[in-house]
Amino acid sequence: MAKFTPNPALETLLARMVAPDVQRIAHQVEVEAKRLAPPTKRWVTVADDRVRPTHVQAQGQVVPGNLRFTINSMDWDRKHRGVGPNTYMLQPRDQTSRAVANLKNCRCATAIDPEGIARNISTSQPVVTGKRVTVTVTARGPMVVEAEVGTVYSGNLIADGAHFMARAAAAVAARR
Ligand SMILES: [Zn+2]
Repeated sequence: MAKFTPNPALETLLARMVAPDVQRIAHQVEVEAKRLAPPTKRWVTVADDRVRPTHVQAQGQVVPGNLRFTINSMDWDRKHRGVGPNTYMLQPRDQTSRAVANLKNCRCATAIDPEGIARNISTSQPVVTGKRVTVTVTARGPMVVEAEVGTVYSGNLIADGAHFMARAAAAVAARR
C-alpha cells in the first residue's frame, strides 16, 4: 500500500486555494448572524429636574434586547422588596424586576436600535497557517457574549440567550 503525504509546501498551496471559499462561507455566517442578532435598547429619561436620581444615572445605558438594564435600587425596594443594590429591568416600569418604588410615576422610555448588534458583526480576512485556514466571524459590543448565551441576574432573573451566532453557523451549515 502506498501512502501519499503531500509535502508542506503543497499543503500550504492547497490551503491558500480554499481560503476564498472558507471566507465566502464565513461571510454567509456573518449575514445570517446580522439577521438573527437581537436589537439593542437604550434607557431614555425625559431629562427634566423631576427624573429620580436612579434613572438619571441610567440615562443612555445600552443593553442587548434580550437582556436587562442595571438600575441602582431605591432604598424602599431594598427594604421592602428584597432587591439587592441593583434592580434589573427589561424596560422602564418593569414589574418583573420586583421593584415598586423604582417604577412608580416613571416617565422613562426605551429607544430600540434594530442594528445595535448587527452593525458590529464582521468577518476577518483568511489567515493561512501551514495547512490551516482560519476565518473569524466576530460580534463586538457591550454584553454581546451574554446576548448570545444568556445570563442570570441576582434574584434568579433569567435572560435566555439569543444564540444568534450559533444559529447563524447552523443555518449556513445546513445549506451545504
Ligand atoms: Zn424613570
